[in-house]
Amino acid sequence: FDQLDGEIWYNGEFLPWKDAKVHVLTHGLHYASAVFEGERAYGGTVFKLREHTERLIASGRMIGFEIPYSADEIDAATNELLVRQGFTDAYVRPIAFRGSEMMGVSAQKNRINVAIAIWQWPSYFDPEQRMKGIRLDLAEYRRPDPRTAPSKAKATGLYMICTISKHAAEAKGYADALMLDWRGQVAEATGANVFFVKDGIIHTPTPDCFLDGITRRTVIELAKRRGIEVRERAIMPEELADFDECFLCGTAAEVTPVSEIAEWRFTPGETTRRLVEDYTAVVQPQRAAAE
Ligand code: PMP
Repeated sequence: FDQLDGEIWYNGEFLPWKDAKVHVLTHGLHYASAVFEGERAYGGTVFKLREHTERLIASGRMIGFEIPYSADEIDAATNELLVRQGFTDAYVRPIAFRGSEMMGVSAQKNRINVAIAIWQWPSYFDPEQRMKGIRLDLAEYRRPDPRTAPSKAKATGLYMICTISKHAAEAKGYADALMLDWRGQVAEATGANVFFVKDGIIHTPTPDCFLDGITRRTVIELAKRRGIEVRERAIMPEELADFDECFLCGTAAEVTPVSEIAEWRFTPGETTRRLVEDYTAVVQPQRAAAE
């Protein structure tokens, strides 16, 4: 990935892709003092860019640092980079991390570096393919208690258990893993929120120890516009046997139907299909209108 062409915005400059490097003694690498975002551009516009930028800045504050750029500056850098990269449908990855000036748990004075990379990642709106659904395993690790970690931050440290869980699931032939929280309640997948459907009503876990995703909020809004009832509540794994449909949602995942979670089975149906279509339409009005 470090060999791609193009440019990366790094601390206010557009650098050749291969030159956007860090030192091995970077604090963010050793102590996970880093926060990031995942965004998608559709038809040349980053969907909900300001919300992502604000979450990046808020995540930095939650782990104890102030990003040295304003939301306006970060948005302008993102938009300019998207044009310079020449992409319309792309994935955007901003990251902010403590630098390498001091080594040790305490590194109060280390520079907060900020980088933004954009690469091509077309979104495939093939509803039929999507509607087959993906298979999830149950993760070994649980989302931590908010008293254990700043669980609302999109901070790199919180992704250690996600990568372990996703790799373990992939080794068993699954696409991803469903994570429970520290209480044993259903939480989310390793990089997306989870929704269930029963008798036309949507149920989704209350986001009190994991990200209340921007896609999650968009999907709830779209469901309500359709007159579909949405219940945010605690969901126990034993209840999974009772749900008809299940889907994940997130910036990268968009709306992805799920056919299986460990021993439980789901049949992607009408409610999921509507939300796949509505999400497609809302992120990419030009494309939806043409289809
Ligand atoms: N949970 C986790 C762990 C994630 O990594 C993501 C992706 N950022 C989400 C949920 C969904 O968030 P969003 O819809 O804002 O992308």
